[in-house]
Amino acid sequence: MTEAVQDWVARAATLAIEGRAWIDGAYRAAHDSLTYTCVSPIDGRTLTEIAHCRAADVDRAVKAARSTFERGVWRAQAPRERKAVLLRWAALVREHADELALLETLDTGKPIADTTSVDIPSAAYCISWFAEAIDKTGGEVAPVGEAFLGLVTREPVGVVGAVVPWNFPALIAMWKCAPALASGNSVVLKPSEKSPLTALRLAELASQAGLPAGVLNVVPGFGEAGEALALHNDVDCLAFTGSTAVGRKIARSAADSNLKRVWLELGGKSPQIVLPDCPDLERAARSVAHAVFYNTGQMCTAGSRLLVHRDIKASFLDRVLTIAGEYTPGDPLSLATRMGSLIDAAQVDRVLSYVELGRTTARLLSGGARARGESGGQYVEPTVFDCPDTQSPIVREEIFGPVLAVTAFDTLDEAITLANDTPYGLASAVWSANLTTAHETARRLRAGTVWVNGYEETDDMNFPFGGFKESGNGRDNSLHALEKYTELKSTIVRLR
Ligand code: NAD
Repeated sequence: MTEAVQDWVARAATLAIEGRAWIDGAYRAAHDSLTYTCVSPIDGRTLTEIAHCRAADVDRAVKAARSTFERGVWRAQAPRERKAVLLRWAALVREHADELALLETLDTGKPIADTTSVDIPSAAYCISWFAEAIDKTGGEVAPVGEAFLGLVTREPVGVVGAVVPWNFPALIAMWKCAPALASGNSVVLKPSEKSPLTALRLAELASQAGLPAGVLNVVPGFGEAGEALALHNDVDCLAFTGSTAVGRKIARSAADSNLKRVWLELGGKSPQIVLPDCPDLERAARSVAHAVFYNTGQMCTAGSRLLVHRDIKASFLDRVLTIAGEYTPGDPLSLATRMGSLIDAAQVDRVLSYVELGRTTARLLSGGARARGESGGQYVEPTVFDCPDTQSPIVREEIFGPVLAVTAFDTLDEAITLANDTPYGLASAVWSANLTTAHETARRLRAGTVWVNGYEETDDMNFPFGGFKESGNGRDNSLHALEKYTELKSTIVRLR
C-alpha cells in the first residue's frame, strides 16, 4: 500500500459518521427509530445505520421549515445578514473539506482525488456564489404613467422540497439548497438513500455557521420519503434531480396535491460529434473519454454517444481506446485512481445487462466486464462499443455507467439528425475548427448545453444548467436558478 492510500485508509477507519436525520436544528432518529444500513461500494464495508425517514418524518421537517418561514427568522433577515451566514457556511465546508470528501468517497466510491478536488470544493463554491448574489440582485420598476408607481419584486416561494440523486450528492444538494436559501426560503432536503452522508454533515455545518434551526432540514430515506415531500400540501416548490421516470411521478404528485412548482433536472443520452476538421484529435479523444468515464459514467451529462466522421473513425477510435485504459478502475482511496466504483451492486447489474444487450447489436471493442472482484466492491471496466445500429438500447437508453457507443456518419446533416434523435436534450458537443460549422451545429443541437471543442469545460456556476425535452425543465446554477425559488409580485400604486 502506498503512503497516500494508507493515509486515507487510516482516516477512514477513525471517521465519525452520523446517520440520523437533521430536523429543526438537531440530529434526530426517524419515527419508530427505523434505520437502514449504509454500505460502501468501495469494498462492501458497513458505514453506519441511517435514519429511515418516511411520511411522518417528512411532515415533521416540513412543519419546522414552515414555522421558520412564517416567523421570518431567515426570510426576513437583511440580505447582507443572510449572505454572511452562507459565507460562513462555505468557509466551514472548506475547513472540513477532507472529512466531507472522505465521507463522499466512502459513500459513493468516487475517487478521493475527485472528491477533494471537485465535489467538495465545488459545493463550497456554489454556496459562496449564491451568498454573493443575494445583495446584488433586485427587482424592477415597471414602465407606467405618471399617476402610478409599478414595482416588480421577487419573494421567496416558501418551503422548498429538494430531492436529489447519488451521483454528485453534496454538489447537487447545494445546487438546490444554496439558491433556495439565498432567496430566503426554508428547505427540506431528501438525499438519495444511496448517498445520505454528506448532506447530513453539511446541514450540521450550516447550523454552526448560524443558519437558524428549522431553515434547512435533511430527511434521509427511500423514494417514499421523496414522494411524501412531493405530495405534501405545505411544500410550495419541489426541486428534483434524478431519473426521468421518477421526474414524471413527481410531476403527478404535484398535480395530485397543491400544484406546487416542480423543477426537474432529469436524464440524458448526450452526443459528441467529431468532424473531420477537428482541431486537435488527441485532445478530442481525451475529452470524449473523460466525458463518458469520469465519475464511472454516472453522470446525467455523460457523453455516452460518440458520432464520428467515417473518414477519421478508425484513427480516432484507436486514440479513445488507448485513453480508456487510463480509466481502469482502482481503489477510490488511492490518489492515483481515476475511476472508482459504481454506486452499488444494482447499478453494476444494470450496466452489465446493457453490455449484454450491446453484444447482440454492436461490436465490443474494449471492457464489458466486472473489475476488482477481490475487493468486495462494485467495479466495471471502461467499455466501448462500435454500434452502427442506432436503434440499439445502448444508443437510445441512459445506462449511467462507463459505456460508450460509437457510430460513424458521412455528412454533417446526418450527424445532427442522429444527435437529436433522442427523447433527451441535456448536453452535447461538436468538434470542428470551422467557426461557422461549429456555431451552426451548436444552434441545431436540441440540448441545454453545447460544448464546442470540449466537454464539461469552464466554470459551472456561471451557466444555467438543465435540459430540453425529457431531460427536464428549469435550470440550476447561474442567476437564473434564483427564478425557481422565487415568486414574481407586481405591486401597482396609484399615486394620485
Ligand atoms: P432516481 O430518480 O432513482 O432517484 C432520485 C431521487 O428521487 C432519490 O432521492 C430517490 O429516493 C427519489 N425518489 C424515488 N422515487 C421517488 C418518488 N416516487 N417520489 C419522489 N422521490 C422519489 O435517480 P438516481 O438513480 O438517484 O440518479 C440517477 C438519475 O439522475 C439519472 O437518470 C441521471 O441522469 C439523473 N441526473 C440528472 C441530473 C441533471 O441535472 N439533469 C444530474 C444528476 C443525475
